[in-house]
Amino acid sequence: MRELEFYLAQRRKIAAFDYVDFLTEWDAQTDAAAGSIAADSVYQAALSEMKYRLTTDPEFERCVNELYLRRDRLDEALRHEIEVVRRSVEDTKRIPMDEYARIREITAKGYPVYVDAKKKGDFALFRPYLEQIVDYNRKLTVWLERPQLKGYDVLLDRYEPHYTQAKYDAFFNMLRDKLVPFVRERTAHPTPVPQWTRQRFDKAKQREFCEYIRDVMCFDKNFGIMKESEHPFTSGIGTDDVRITTHYYENDLVSSIFSVIHETGHATYERQCDPALNGTLSGGGASLGMHESQSRFYENMIGRSRAFWAVHYPRLRQIFAPQLDGVGLDEFVAYINRTEASFIRTEADELTYPLHIMLRYEIEQQLIGGKLRVGDLPEYWNGKFTEYFGITPPDDAAGVLQDVHWAYGDFGYFPTYALGSAIAAQLYHAMSRDFDVEQSLASGTTREINAWLGSHVHRYGASKYPDEILRLATGEDFDPNYYVDYLINKYSV
Ligand SMILES: [Zn+2]
Repeated sequence: MRELEFYLAQRRKIAAFDYVDFLTEWDAQTDAAAGSIAADSVYQAALSEMKYRLTTDPEFERCVNELYLRRDRLDEALRHEIEVVRRSVEDTKRIPMDEYARIREITAKGYPVYVDAKKKGDFALFRPYLEQIVDYNRKLTVWLERPQLKGYDVLLDRYEPHYTQAKYDAFFNMLRDKLVPFVRERTAHPTPVPQWTRQRFDKAKQREFCEYIRDVMCFDKNFGIMKESEHPFTSGIGTDDVRITTHYYENDLVSSIFSVIHETGHATYERQCDPALNGTLSGGGASLGMHESQSRFYENMIGRSRAFWAVHYPRLRQIFAPQLDGVGLDEFVAYINRTEASFIRTEADELTYPLHIMLRYEIEQQLIGGKLRVGDLPEYWNGKFTEYFGITPPDDAAGVLQDVHWAYGDFGYFPTYALGSAIAAQLYHAMSRDFDVEQSLASGTTREINAWLGSHVHRYGASKYPDEILRLATGEDFDPNYYVDYLINKYSV
């Protein structure tokens, strides 16, 4: 088929641009000196223009449409890929060119204003930009609507296919009913931060322990380096180059450790995709929510468990000797599972975290649905926050301005963070039917866990929709009961 040949050739070129993107972005975030980034942006502009031409090439589009019509003759992975690519080409064309350019200009101009407004804790400065961003997102829901997909659902589906308000409402209603009263009760009298945590923890020793953790998680270092960056992230191309970063704080012993467990969770997902998907547009994770389910599975279910630290805490004590001499295993495990109502989402603990997401979901629903005006946002935010957490943000920086997503123009993204945690709990339940997960940790590595996730989730990459993969892995549709039960059970002791 001539169309298939053209498609595959074009895909190879697109993948090459993705490779350059990955390497330059990695360099900018890790090694590049601040002053050298300006030069980089000149080349970046030219490269992204070339990539845009490749993806919007009329011949490419014609071939995609032709392959779509004859999709029954394609193998399963390629058929899925063609469906996804056709949809995204179609979506791109539905957005008027001038509007597309204008929103990029608004967010580019608005970003420094957002940073300044956050610094000053003053929402009014950023308000005119956010009004335009919300307005654009409302228009998006009209341009991209389909018979089954209208309003806010259009935006949600862009980040997590097939997850619409019907599913998310059921999820968040359950959190509101069961979790909010529980969290209020559990966080009413938080245990104080223990004195032993207020020491200086040497960066080189932290790095040594983090490298040890990567071995515990069986990450083959021959296929991915670890470096430092301001915010930890995972990045890679295909299954053979998967890199992570972390950030060491000398006044915080555990921040870098949990970042490394989290990012190695993401990296393990990428590493264990079927290598046959390398170079296709179906490699990597199935969706944002599915990716986050893997990182949070390792970070919370494994990394915060007593069974994990029963094996690895002696090593931590040994590396930091004599700093942790008086701190027993139970004391350490209690500290890493401490819960407290707090203002900032990114610093929230495992129990309170999903309520931060619920708040943002409800607000986005109101804004996009036209039921809430941007001007009323700070007051609405603070009211809802007080209702859920029992504390009121002191200013807009600790409230409505804390997250960067809206300034970037992204609406519909937040719910995937909570979805990931909930999927993790459902997967844990399914895994526990096959073997005793805590018992397996006594072996000293996560090998058995990696193998289960590899064969039930990772190998599919993005060659299927996330809800389909979840059904294959657990035998069930998404069910938030597992998550709520898990949290209440864990934090009831
Ligand atoms: Zn993550």
